[in-house]
Amino acid sequence: MTSDIEIARAAKKRPIVEVAARLGLSPEDVLPYGHDKAKLTHAALAQMQDRAPGKLILVTSINPTPAGEGKTTTTVGLGDALNRIGRKTVICLREPSLGPNFGMKGGAAGGGYAQVIPMEDLNLHFTGDFHAIGSTHNLLSAMIDNHIHWGNELGFDIRRISWRRVVDMNDRALRDITVALGGASNGYPRESGFDISVASEVMAILCLAENLVDLQARLARIVVGYTRELKPITAADLKADGAMTVLLRDALQPNLAQTIENNPVLVHGGPFANIAHGCNSVIATRAGLALGDYVVTEAGFGADLGAEKFLDIKCRKSGLAPDAVVIVATIRALKMNGGVAKADLGVEDVPALVLGSTNLERHIGNIQKFGLPVVVAINHFATDTAEELAALTGICEGLGVKAILCRHWAEGGAGAEELARAVVAMTEEGEAALKLLYADELPLWEKIQTISREIYGAARAEAPARIMAQLSQWQKEGYGDFPICMAKTQYSFSADPALLGAPANHVIPVREVRLAAGAGFIVAICGDVMTMPGLPRHPTAQRIGLTATGEIDGLF
Ligand code: ADP
Ligand code: MG
Repeated sequence: MTSDIEIARAAKKRPIVEVAARLGLSPEDVLPYGHDKAKLTHAALAQMQDRAPGKLILVTSINPTPAGEGKTTTTVGLGDALNRIGRKTVICLREPSLGPNFGMKGGAAGGGYAQVIPMEDLNLHFTGDFHAIGSTHNLLSAMIDNHIHWGNELGFDIRRISWRRVVDMNDRALRDITVALGGASNGYPRESGFDISVASEVMAILCLAENLVDLQARLARIVVGYTRELKPITAADLKADGAMTVLLRDALQPNLAQTIENNPVLVHGGPFANIAHGCNSVIATRAGLALGDYVVTEAGFGADLGAEKFLDIKCRKSGLAPDAVVIVATIRALKMNGGVAKADLGVEDVPALVLGSTNLERHIGNIQKFGLPVVVAINHFATDTAEELAALTGICEGLGVKAILCRHWAEGGAGAEELARAVVAMTEEGEAALKLLYADELPLWEKIQTISREIYGAARAEAPARIMAQLSQWQKEGYGDFPICMAKTQYSFSADPALLGAPANHVIPVREVRLAAGAGFIVAICGDVMTMPGLPRHPTAQRIGLTATGEIDGLF
């Protein structure tokens, strides 16, 4: 079988200025990074503001199994298919993090014949955005310790500094560290740690900012720590926001790449889908809508996390709203939700599929609660049987929702044309009327309860008294109208990754809450959530290298 990287390498790339030209962009509108990548300039972005926006299609999925079920692949396949049927379509995706590449995950540029190229670049340094984000984050970290070293005029309580450091690598040894050891000239020792760059609030800010001015205003509002009297200290108090904005100026410009069928893809930003909102930048989505008739975009994890946050955070803040939602499902993942072990997924099992489809059913109902029309894309795997496919289509029909078999992984855009036509029909019917799940004014704790009950099917959320006190303090300090960014396992509607299907009456335990004042949301951490992943016993890094002809081997 041909591997993803072999397919990607064999693809005939067009010069990136040609891909841009098809979107009506002149050579001055783009900043080429070599021959096959470019950024859209700030000037070009500013000019796009008055154009009538195209239709927005959100791709989300059922709760994933550990393999990943093909959201990115389907996003790319649907984008290619829409272009094939004559709709000018831009695909909007996140940039992958460097860290997971060397662990076990594999690439994040789609798969099979539905991929974004140049995929090696995309999965490695790309145009350097993540390095810029890491540097920006760490500049602020350095300025905090420097401020304390020179007398701590702002009165930091050094036990209450919440701003850590970041690096784009899976490095568990850095999770908890002590900084400033080695004597008076090195500052005041204190406990701190590293998160992976995609978990940085700077990443979330870049992805929600509307322009450079908004970017700086958000960076200025970042709360980095507290005084002994618990008064928040911000990046603006440290006078760091100007230099941080300078470091991010280029990174705020979306990157243009192409699919293997030469269709345009904007790849920009990559916030973690757990402690952040998990989708590409607002700027890229807006640019795509200005340049194309359609934008197809992906939200991370399952619809309980990714789509909920896409809608309640990104859409709430930006005013964007999808015209249709595609829920990706696979027979394999549904069977896993019905109790089948990973090793047995190749064996036909209609009863398990039917049992596991309760998961899909709840996701469909959830999206409908937001007032949005839904179609199910069955991402076809070679092991799917005719009986299983018939059973799944029947279940969806029973729910009044179309389920369409898609073969884009094996066939490229041609394999997803039926899905593309269904999506066009849905947008033309114009039934979408986005209703956010909760109002801004709802108290913070009530927001957590609402998400837990309405989206997760929980009986309630629970939190210890110190968290309730913290939430009421933020409520008093003026952060009460922020949306909630839920951080919980992606594998289950509950906080227990082992509870598959559609668990009911469970309890969502809120373990920790964090203020992201610059991004403009409050993170509620439920269960164990990792902000610095580790590498497995045998990391893929051990198999990666260059071939004799200088090509990258072992990455995917
Ligand atoms: P997600 O975005 O949901 O995490 P991806 O689209 O990145 O999932 O796909 C995860 C992995 O599954 C990729 O390696 C991709 O090549 C593979 N994959 C996706 N769809 C199929 C399919 N239909 N058949 C076989 N492998 C697939
Ligand atoms: Mg993906």
